[in-house]
Amino acid sequence: MNDSRTILDRSVLGPDLPQVPFDHPFRVQFSDWLREHGPAGEEPLDQRRRFAYRRAWQRALAEGGWAGIAWPTEYGGHGATPLTQFMQYEEFALAGVPEPANTPGIILLGPTLMVHGSEELKQRFLPKILAGDEIWAQGFSEPDSGSDLASLRTRATLDGDQWRINGQKIWTTFAQYADFCFVLARTDPGSERHRGLTLLICQTRQPGVTVRPIKQISGDEEFCEVFFDDAHAPAAWTVGGVGGGWQTAMTLFQFERSDQGYTDHGRLLVRLEHARRRLRGIIEVHPERLSAFELASFRARFAELWIRCQELRLLNLRMAVIAESGESVSSAGSVTNLVWGELEKDVAQFDADIAGGDGITRGTAAAHHQLASRAASIYSGTSEIQRNIVAERLLGLPR
Ligand SMILES: Cc1cc2nc3c(=O)[nH]c(=O)nc-3n(C[C@H](O)[C@H](O)[C@H](O)COP(=O)(O)OP(=O)(O)OC[C@H]3O[C@@H](n4cnc5c(N)ncnc54)[C@H](O)[C@@H]3O)c2cc1C
Repeated sequence: MNDSRTILDRSVLGPDLPQVPFDHPFRVQFSDWLREHGPAGEEPLDQRRRFAYRRAWQRALAEGGWAGIAWPTEYGGHGATPLTQFMQYEEFALAGVPEPANTPGIILLGPTLMVHGSEELKQRFLPKILAGDEIWAQGFSEPDSGSDLASLRTRATLDGDQWRINGQKIWTTFAQYADFCFVLARTDPGSERHRGLTLLICQTRQPGVTVRPIKQISGDEEFCEVFFDDAHAPAAWTVGGVGGGWQTAMTLFQFERSDQGYTDHGRLLVRLEHARRRLRGIIEVHPERLSAFELASFRARFAELWIRCQELRLLNLRMAVIAESGESVSSAGSVTNLVWGELEKDVAQFDADIAGGDGITRGTAAAHHQLASRAASIYSGTSEIQRNIVAERLLGLPR
């Protein structure tokens, strides 16, 4: 690991906020650790090497006791409060370190297991999720069931002490690296919509499971089609009870829509800062490359994006304060998710525009990020679906 990782000054994040002050002892201690133990060098663009880099990084975090700090101590976490978690995400961003490989396991599947899993399942799976020893995938979406998840058709039937699963999932992130998949399946053949669904834990490395990666516009093969042909899953690994799949899935979505890991303002502000530095470099070294109009337009866009990032920062802080008080953030997570998804694309576009030719050349970070960012307003619920939730559940507007 690295003993000289550059860490950006906290002023990049914007104003110091009293609930999460820049001189908080947690920040100072964690950032010292990051400087010494953060991964060496830049994260590779190549996906396979990138995944290996993130997996090694997760192991280092877990060994240092810094992975999943919000998890309860009995499952290997620190029981850290949401405000401490907020500060940790900001410190990650300032140090320029990536999210660990098993982020879906740490912020979605692990916490869902803590709510709905049996003690036996928690003991069996949680420590290995945290350590990055076992990688998890989320098998919800199907070819005709994305936003309308309740229409899913993958089915499972009980055969002795095993479920037999048949059907197909799609867009399953990192299924090619996963050891286990959370599969939402119809277990009551006569049921419709959200009734008769059950959440199962299925091993991905078995003859009944075929994983086919899908090539994306960014060049990555980040998600996959997953085919189940009589795949088996132990009945004892059912999560949330037979027929309780919809409620369990809703718990997971709440984690997904409220966790700052998905709506990370810190990374956006750091990216914006790098774009600003790139622009300043052009102005100082090649001012002839920019007309007065282009320069004015970049400045105006920078100001607008920075203000939107501050809005997101305050929204994330608000979610953390609500969670800190023990209340559920409920549908309010959709507001943060919506603001983040659109901002992620706009910041990436801004960076690519300043990068000029590099912004459209395959193999450059700016181009890669710009293409990859297009998915931000789709996964964890599309922007349209988030708007529906905000309109109906928060504002009480008619359907
Ligand atoms: C990078 C990435 C990673 C993903 N990872 C996973 C994963 O690990 N596991 C998993 O299960 N899924 C994953 N997904 C799938 C994701 O959850 C779905 O893509 C998403 O829910 C949308 O579903 P869909 O693609 O079927 O689009 P559709 O639901 O078919 O939607 C198509 C369009 O119609 C709009 N639309 C649909 N219904 C409505 C409505 N009621 N009102 C207004 N507009 C509507 C949508 O907003 C969208 O613009 C991932 C997706 C991406 C892009």
